[in-house]
Amino acid sequence: MADTTATPAHYSFFEGVERNFDKASKYTRFEKGILEQIKACNAVYRMKFPVRIGDNVEVVEAYRVQHSHHKLPCKGGIRFSMDVNQDEVMALAALMTYKCAIVNVPFGGAKGGIRINPKSYSTYELEKITRRYTSELVKKNFIGAGIDVPAPDYGTGAREMSWIADTFATLNPGDINAMGCVTGKPVTQGGVRGRQEATGLGVFYGVREMCNVAEDMAKLGLTPGIKGKKVIVQGLGNVGYNAAKFFSQGGAILVGIAEYEGGVYCETGIDLEALVAHRKATGSILGFAGMTDVAESGKVLEMPCDILIPAALENVINASNADRIQAKIVGEGANGPLTPEADEILNAKGVIVIPDMFLNAGGVTVSYFEWLKNLSHVRFGRMDKRFTENVNSQILNSVESLIGKSVNEVERKMILHGPDEVDLVYSGLEDTMIGSFHEIRESMLANPGVDMRTAAFIVAINKVGVAYEELGIFP
Ligand code: NAD
Repeated sequence: MADTTATPAHYSFFEGVERNFDKASKYTRFEKGILEQIKACNAVYRMKFPVRIGDNVEVVEAYRVQHSHHKLPCKGGIRFSMDVNQDEVMALAALMTYKCAIVNVPFGGAKGGIRINPKSYSTYELEKITRRYTSELVKKNFIGAGIDVPAPDYGTGAREMSWIADTFATLNPGDINAMGCVTGKPVTQGGVRGRQEATGLGVFYGVREMCNVAEDMAKLGLTPGIKGKKVIVQGLGNVGYNAAKFFSQGGAILVGIAEYEGGVYCETGIDLEALVAHRKATGSILGFAGMTDVAESGKVLEMPCDILIPAALENVINASNADRIQAKIVGEGANGPLTPEADEILNAKGVIVIPDMFLNAGGVTVSYFEWLKNLSHVRFGRMDKRFTENVNSQILNSVESLIGKSVNEVERKMILHGPDEVDLVYSGLEDTMIGSFHEIRESMLANPGVDMRTAAFIVAINKVGVAYEELGIFP
């Protein structure tokens, strides 16, 4: 199967991020030196370590980049992929700095990567590689609740985070905050409820908020609201699957899905869970009853829809396919799915691109909640759930006796309900995505003509710039 979304050989992801930064920095008031410092990667750790795989010793290449120390700890995911290289990890670490600033999470940006194809290793081998990588980070003081806190990313999940936490805790006996060294852990290992679906849910909240602005929708020739909007999602992994799920639940129509083995399209809507079950049974999303199969997966991105969510890899929309994109809104679920050239083409066509460093910030937002939970050693809601329910009950009883009427049992349950951990996490995430969307929109209104990515960069540069100014420069 030919890949129409291949990356041009000359393209540097980090340079692309710098290019966007430079474009936005013109709209800020900071001196050149401060801007250079915001842009620079503070620390790049490139390592190679041996791991015995079967009868052989394999030398594994890995990275951890801490882009900014203006706030500590640094924060960013770890990916397992054969595409991992220094340029990519640096770019992703830089995006993390801007992302944290945009959603008001008090961390500097970081990113890690191990250059392996996780599908080529057994679970035991992956555990060995992950634990060895963690011990390399410990040796160089590149991990810890107050230093640098990794999280899941492409090719990793809760299982790998659990191995990292356990290795760190073993090498740091007595560290009461050891569990705060990594986020995205299973709930039983210090994780927080709602983290797994957080990025996809944040993508949904962010796009929904944009669709709720009638004025902006009118410019795109769309009606306000998410209901009935046609959506295509690339990638059925953590971000893509959860985004697709919340779009469906929110009343949007899922018309296309692209995965690495191919894509499917159906104008009247795809039943996501049935498609996932079909893939589980057959090993492929292709051949699902009622769908049009698209052998060349990248072509699905070019099919008719209102909203396109690339949520798999970077650079998938580039100079070679951008002008064929039919969506009016492109929401970057993945990091860096558009090249700067694609950005320009889509902007010229009047497509609104909701940038990655805002739209997929749900993961780091809920990671921040998890880290707070780890440092406070108490589950969210534990102290106030019962209290809230008791107060609600007293208020309801008073109202009922005053008006002489009673609510039904379903209503009573809903009114009395005190928040569980997941309720608080979802609510904190929703509030963050809505608040940050409007900060970016206000920046667009204050700087007429800028696109949403530039506006998001302006917001981020202003926050990080002020932090550096107020921090002062160490003599
Ligand atoms: P994942 O490994 O869970 O899922 C990625 C999915 O993409 C997989 O299902 C894979 O099969 C699919 N895929 C691979 N090649 C493809 C192709 N050519 N066409 C279509 N699909 C293909 O990874 P993830 O955690 O969902 O991350 C996806 C993107 O989102 C990455 O860019 C990551 O940096 C970004 N992101 C993830 C999180 C998070 O919390 N997981 C947070 C922010 C950003």
